[in-house]
Amino acid sequence: MNTQKPHTIIGNGIIGLMTAYHLTNRGVPVTLIDEVNPGDRAQASYGNAGVIALGSVMPLGEPGLWLQGLKMMLDPQSSLTIPWSYRLKIIPWLVKVLKESSVTRWDQNARATAELNQLSGIEWRQMITRLRLQSIIKETGWLKVFETDRSMQAMDAGKAYMEEYGFQYQQLNSDEVRQIEPELAPIFRHGLLQSDSLSITQPDQLLKELKTYLEARGVRFLQQKITAIQRHSDGFLLQGPGESIACQQLSVCAGAWSQRLLSSLGCQYPLETERGYHMLFDSVPGLNRPVIHMERYMVLCPMTSGLRMTSGVELAGLDAKANYQPIRAKIVDAKRMLPKLNTVERDQWLGFRPSMPDSKPVISAHPDIDGLFMAFGHGHLGITQGAATGKLLAQLICGEATDIDPLPFDASRF
Ligand SMILES: Cc1cc2nc3c(=O)[nH]c(=O)nc-3n(C[C@H](O)[C@H](O)[C@H](O)COP(=O)(O)OP(=O)(O)OC[C@H]3O[C@@H](n4cnc5c(N)ncnc54)[C@H](O)[C@@H]3O)c2cc1C
Repeated sequence: MNTQKPHTIIGNGIIGLMTAYHLTNRGVPVTLIDEVNPGDRAQASYGNAGVIALGSVMPLGEPGLWLQGLKMMLDPQSSLTIPWSYRLKIIPWLVKVLKESSVTRWDQNARATAELNQLSGIEWRQMITRLRLQSIIKETGWLKVFETDRSMQAMDAGKAYMEEYGFQYQQLNSDEVRQIEPELAPIFRHGLLQSDSLSITQPDQLLKELKTYLEARGVRFLQQKITAIQRHSDGFLLQGPGESIACQQLSVCAGAWSQRLLSSLGCQYPLETERGYHMLFDSVPGLNRPVIHMERYMVLCPMTSGLRMTSGVELAGLDAKANYQPIRAKIVDAKRMLPKLNTVERDQWLGFRPSMPDSKPVISAHPDIDGLFMAFGHGHLGITQGAATGKLLAQLICGEATDIDPLPFDASRF
């Protein structure tokens, strides 16, 4: 007989779905509530680069960040944009990021990320076999390419963590880059193939498959926007335009919007959004895997729907209108990188990375509110870390021993 309390999750992006998957595996009855369906364009989980980048563990806050950040803000070609209207508002968050940039904090954050990514590698591969996802998630590796020696050398710290935590990588010279990716222009002096990373051929399709799987296992999907969460005698009341929904146990997995929801309970977390864009072009046959141009911070990803180019970080909050100008300016770089690219845009997209100043998600029970759990703030690595996050949160909800130390992800660290 199932003794677990039913669990309600707000948010059916990759994090909510993965939490539902691991709870269902434990016999917990789950209801997922979201304004949209899994795989909808509104989700960050829709329009990302689809890379399960296991060896990518370097946090945003790194020693010397203030200088690097200043240079980026002054460089009109930089991949970071902050509109004037948001510059004052973002300062407190940027100060928190800078505080995470000491050598000690940087090392601690990288190590916690490495442990979460290690667990994700195990969990993703188990899931791929169990749900037969081999046609959607492929063992392609993740290729970083460099035009200069200097930016290759900047990878030294990242390589040291990859070696310590057992993530596979190969360093490539320009000929070797051309051998594995003959369609790339011969402009790259170096490559770094993170060979144990995976890639998703179409992220929205993966989310839809997960929904189908979960529905077949009894998970309920409710389509509703939640406007506020209230505590009541036996749990929570979720308010929306329709009737309030009562639940005993609740997880907030609402991505970049999580803080808005949690503020109705008086909770404050330093969650920002690093907005990111993609453009879609015709496929370029012969490009075998996602490739990132490290100097231009631009990813070209072969997807079922076409060639997706992702780029940029824009700090402008959740409400500002999309500004496609910076990513459009990168098309010329994409063509230089991949000469066969047909540069006629087929689609453009803006999405909201949910980001914490220490580049680590919150995966945690609420320290004071009984029955409230949270998983949000995965920044650039939500697809990568989704599988581990779902498992860790399910273990916390069910009171089990956890596979990795949950403390670095605890909400009480703020
Ligand atoms: C351009 C770009 C490229 C990226 N590339 C990669 C990559 O290659 N690899 C990687 O690992 N990560 C990547 N990421 C990051 C990754 O996409 C995110 O970290 C991840 O998708 C976050 O998932 P989530 O479930 O937390 O949020 P989301 O997918 O945004 O889901 C949150 C859900 O909560 C729902 N919600 C919010 N508020 C409410 C409410 N009030 N009521 C009801 N529902 C609500 C929303 O409707 C939404 O469905 C990329 C992101 C971007 C923008």
